[in-house]
Amino acid sequence: MELKRQHLIDPVVCIRCNTCEEACPVDAITHDGTNYVVSYDKCTGCRTCVSPCPTGAIDNWLLVDQPWSIDDQFGWEELPLGQTGPGPAEPAPLPPGEVSDLLAAATATTGPSVPPPASAAKPYFNLYSRDTPVTARVAGNMRITGEGTDSDIHHVVLDFSHNAFPFLEGQSIGIVPPGTDAKGRAHNIRLYSIASPREGERSGCNNLALTVKRVAGGVGSNYVCDLKKGDEVRVAGPFGQAFLMPDAPNANIIMICTGTGSAPFRAFTERRRRNAQDASGKLMLFFGARTPEELPYFGPLMKLPKSLIDVNLAFSRVPDRPKQYVQDKIRERSDDLAALLASADTHVFICGLKGMEQGCDEAFADICRLHGLDWADLRPRMREEGRYHVETY
Ligand SMILES: Cc1cc2nc3c(=O)[nH]c(=O)nc-3n(C[C@H](O)[C@H](O)[C@H](O)COP(=O)(O)OP(=O)(O)OC[C@H]3O[C@@H](n4cnc5c(N)ncnc54)[C@H](O)[C@@H]3O)c2cc1C
Ligand code: SF4
Ligand code: SF4
Repeated sequence: MELKRQHLIDPVVCIRCNTCEEACPVDAITHDGTNYVVSYDKCTGCRTCVSPCPTGAIDNWLLVDQPWSIDDQFGWEELPLGQTGPGPAEPAPLPPGEVSDLLAAATATTGPSVPPPASAAKPYFNLYSRDTPVTARVAGNMRITGEGTDSDIHHVVLDFSHNAFPFLEGQSIGIVPPGTDAKGRAHNIRLYSIASPREGERSGCNNLALTVKRVAGGVGSNYVCDLKKGDEVRVAGPFGQAFLMPDAPNANIIMICTGTGSAPFRAFTERRRRNAQDASGKLMLFFGARTPEELPYFGPLMKLPKSLIDVNLAFSRVPDRPKQYVQDKIRERSDDLAALLASADTHVFICGLKGMEQGCDEAFADICRLHGLDWADLRPRMREEGRYHVETY
C-alpha cells in the first residue's frame, strides 16, 4: 500500500473568506456554496496558501490510501478521521531479519528495550518495506566535505511529492539499492539517518535530507552518493522508535557524534532553531572529525548562534596540533556536563562510528567521579528513562 499525503481544508474552522483561492498559483482551490476544497491532482504542496489563511483551516495534511475527490470534500461537515494508514496507534510490526538486525546491531550498547524520551512525539514507522517501497525523487545531491579530502560525504535531498512519508528527528530510512548481489539476490536495505527536522528539509515541503559517506566498494553508499537530480529512489521506512528527539523545551540534549553520525543531530538542531529558539533546555554538541574539511556541515554549523547550541569540535589530524577526540572535549567540559548530568531533564545521544561509545562512556564515568555522581548508577537509570541513546554503525 502506498499512502498519499493529501492537502485538505477543515470545513469547521474555515470562514469562507476566499483568501486561499486567490493565493493558490495553480488554481488548486475551489468552492461551492458550502465548502472550500483542494484538488489533489492540482495541488503541488507549495504552501503558498497556508500563511495567508486567517484561521489555519487550510493547514491540514492527511495520510490517505485513496485521495478524496473534490465532490467528496464538498459534502463534508467536518474533516474525516478515517482513511489514514498505519500510524502511531497501530504500528506495523517490523519483520524479523534485515532492518531489525541492522537496528539491533546499531543500538547494541543500550539494548533493545530502551524506551524513547518521555516527551518525544509518537513516530510513524515501518510504513514502507523493501517489498513495498515508496518512490522518492532526488531534489539535490551535494558534496559537503572538502574536495581534496578522503572523506566524501554527500548531502542528498529526497522529495516524496504526494506520497506520505511522515518522520521524526532521529529516525532512519532504508534505501533499496537497485540490482542484485554476486549471488543474484536483491540487495539488502541500507539504513541512513534522516538529517532534516519533521517539517522537511525545506519547511513544509514533503522532503528530507540524508548525510551519506561514500564507502570504498560499498553498494549502497556509492549508489546514493552518485545519484543525480531527478533520479528515482526506492525508499523503505521510516525506522526507529526510541532514538528520538525529546520535544520538551526544557530538555537538555547532549549530542556526541563522528562523521555522518551528525545527521540526526542536524535534524535535532534544526527543529529547535526553527520551532523553539527560546527553549530553556540546552543543546550541546561534541563532534569529531579528522580535520575541519572532513567535518560535514562545518560552515553552517559555525554560523549557528551560540545561544542555540554549544558546539565543541575535536580534530584528530590537524598538522601541528595535538590529536583530539570527542572524549577529550567531553572531559574539557567536565563542570558543565556534570551540572547537566545531575538534571533529570538531560538526555545523552551518541551516534557515529562503532566503538566511539566506549570512549564517551569512560569520559562520563570520569566526570561523574570528579563531581560526586555515580555513573554506574546514573547510566542505567538514564537508559531506563529513555534519556541515554546510542546508535553506532
Ligand atoms: C541505524 C543506522 C543508521 C545509519 N546512518 C547512516 C548515515 O546517516 N550515513 C551513512 O553514510 N551511513 C549510515 N549508516 C551506514 C549505512 O547503512 C551503510 O552501512 C553504509 O553506507 C555502507 O553501506 P554500503 O552499501 O556502501 O557498503 P556495503 O556494500 O555494505 O559494504 C560494506 C563494506 O564491506 C566491503 N565489502 C562489500 N562487499 C565486499 C566483498 N564482496 N568483499 C570484501 N569486502 C566487501 C565494502 O568495501 C565496504 O567496506 C547507518 C547504519 C545504520 C545501521
Ligand atoms: S499548497 Fe500550493 S498548490 Fe496546494 S492549494 Fe496551497 S497554494 Fe495551492
Ligand atoms: S483562507 Fe482559510 S479560512 Fe479563508 S477560505 Fe481559505 S481555508 Fe477558509
